[in-house]
Amino acid sequence: MSLLEIKHLNKSYLLAGKERVPVLKDVNVKFESGEFVSILGESGSGKSTLMNIIGGMDSDYEGDVIIQGKSLHTMKEVEIDAYRKDKIGFIFQSFNLIPHLSVLENVMIAMQMTDHSTQERTQRAKEILTEIGLKDHLAKRPNQLSGGQKQRVAIARALSNNPDIILADEPTGSLDQETSEQILELLDSIAKKGVLIITVTHSQRVASFGSRIVSVEDGCIKEDQFLKERYLSVKETEEKKGKNLSFKASFKLAIKNMILNSKRNTLVAVGGAIGILSVILMLSLGNGITGYMNDQINSSLTPLLVDVVKPAKAADAGDQQQNGGPMQQISNEPFTEQDIVTVSGIKNVERVEKVITISGKNNMVFNDKNKVLSSVGTITDAIKAEDIEKGAMPVENEILLTVSFAKGLSSEETYPSLVGKKVHLYINEMNDQNRPVTVEADWVVSGIYKQEDRGPMSGSNAYTSFTTLENAYSKQGLTLQPTQLNAYAENINDVAGIKEVIKADGFQSSPLASIMERVTTYLKMASWVLSAIAGISLLVSGIMILVVLNISVVERTREIGILRAIGARKKDIRRIFFSESALLGLFSGLIAVVAAWIISLGLNTVLSNVFGVELIRLSATYLIFGLCVSTLISVVAGLIPSSKAAKLDPMESLRYE
Ligand code: ADP
Ligand code: MG
Repeated sequence: MSLLEIKHLNKSYLLAGKERVPVLKDVNVKFESGEFVSILGESGSGKSTLMNIIGGMDSDYEGDVIIQGKSLHTMKEVEIDAYRKDKIGFIFQSFNLIPHLSVLENVMIAMQMTDHSTQERTQRAKEILTEIGLKDHLAKRPNQLSGGQKQRVAIARALSNNPDIILADEPTGSLDQETSEQILELLDSIAKKGVLIITVTHSQRVASFGSRIVSVEDGCIKEDQFLKERYLSVKETEEKKGKNLSFKASFKLAIKNMILNSKRNTLVAVGGAIGILSVILMLSLGNGITGYMNDQINSSLTPLLVDVVKPAKAADAGDQQQNGGPMQQISNEPFTEQDIVTVSGIKNVERVEKVITISGKNNMVFNDKNKVLSSVGTITDAIKAEDIEKGAMPVENEILLTVSFAKGLSSEETYPSLVGKKVHLYINEMNDQNRPVTVEADWVVSGIYKQEDRGPMSGSNAYTSFTTLENAYSKQGLTLQPTQLNAYAENINDVAGIKEVIKADGFQSSPLASIMERVTTYLKMASWVLSAIAGISLLVSGIMILVVLNISVVERTREIGILRAIGARKKDIRRIFFSESALLGLFSGLIAVVAAWIISLGLNTVLSNVFGVELIRLSATYLIFGLCVSTLISVVAGLIPSSKAAKLDPMESLRYE
């Protein structure tokens, strides 16, 4: 059994999709190990075509190529990949080294697809390179070498997987005579070890160096001359197990290539980052604004509280809408005892507070100072004990003053001393007969209350209990009726239900809270719309990455061909490009995340100086989301170029200039 037998090999190329042009015509030849064969022929006689078929790079032929008794036609694609990787070493006229890898890495790349450890691979590559005379050039790039040195690297790479056959397509074609001879000596020394060397040449001088010349003319074998005995030594064989290019190795390749094109890749990553960045910022801004609104609502309202008012009458409402908007649609119509019973009776209502705010008719006198008290309100749960600066909550016949009112009544410095002092209150009311009546009361200041500015809900200047006020009124024969009821739910989950019953009973829960809720909803919607618009830039960056990876595939067609020729599977090629797109996306995401963080810090500093609030709330979730989306987009955009790269025909890729 011969090492390599070619039987009735016919090959034609389809020209312009029409006629078939025959290139190889009934080639029959056998090769043995230890032979140094030169295929001699004119340019265009079909020598390279023959090499590609033997090398398993071209399966579109008729006839049989039988290697150690097994026909290539019967092998599956993976088996052919393995055959290329394990049995064949390819050497090209134009060296075909990978420019961004060092000499050592170029030799190791073929071994990367075997299951040898990195250490073993490095050692073997170094051994081969030393043997070949390149010991001092391991770290150089191909473009730092002479032609002869490059061809030595290519030979070392072909030898790295200990192949049975070395195919060299015009290995000395681009070398001067002296260097050519050195390379031929080198190939001869490899044949000596029992490897079959098949070289292609158009030079009679080069051809006569080997042990046998097969002359080809117009696709036919014209002559088969044996010049010397073949070397009879038996090649040491080794157990070989194929392996995929590991993820680590493919990432390494991807990183190398990204560094090689660092300017372009950085630009693309920055471009992609802008999309991600704007989405992150929009989401954070939306989050910040709605969060701020919620904080405002929560600090102004007690969550269990449902405030009940009487709805404005239709006529009133129409009037008021013009000047005050929906906030004013509350009537000041008081609640009757019956109303209070109704509200108290609602299921899950724990208790009901009577609330009234008396505005525009009060004066307070302390010593000889008489101040207008613009409004006095009732104590509710919204008044928090922790906001009392000095003193305590008012009990029977006591009143709580706000800091600003206390300052006016006393002075900027002495106002805390008001606590415990007696003040006199006048309220100018009308009785049932529309006659003016003055309600008077002597109350003790229970404390000073720090009132937060709550914008539209700013509250009163003084607070006392409803009963204290009621008692003062009844002394003048007046009944005080609440204009608002605060119903407290037993449980937060009951609030919505209570609100509904209240509506059904003909009352209205204060529109303020529901307006706030609605505003929050609008804001949320707005922030999603803004993010969606920002998302368009994501689409753009996805397309950009797609284009760049496509360009990268085109640029590296040759490299892909080389990798395929030395045994890389489609899967391995896909993996390299996949790694590259994932890396690009990750890189872009990282830029976006860092930029988002810096920008939000900057904007928040400005915002808090101007408005006193930090409106950009960047959460870790958004950052992780940004990273993931960026990587995902990139990987998806990379799918088409990666599979395009993997599908490239190795032979075509090598012909690519
Ligand atoms: P050699 O290596 O001996 O110079 P080749 O094997 O490269 O010759 O080419 C043999 C013939 O086949 C040439 O005429 C060439 O134009 C043709 N040929 C080679 N590759 C292709 C191809 N992919 N499509 C069409 N014709 C091709
Ligand atoms: Mg050729």
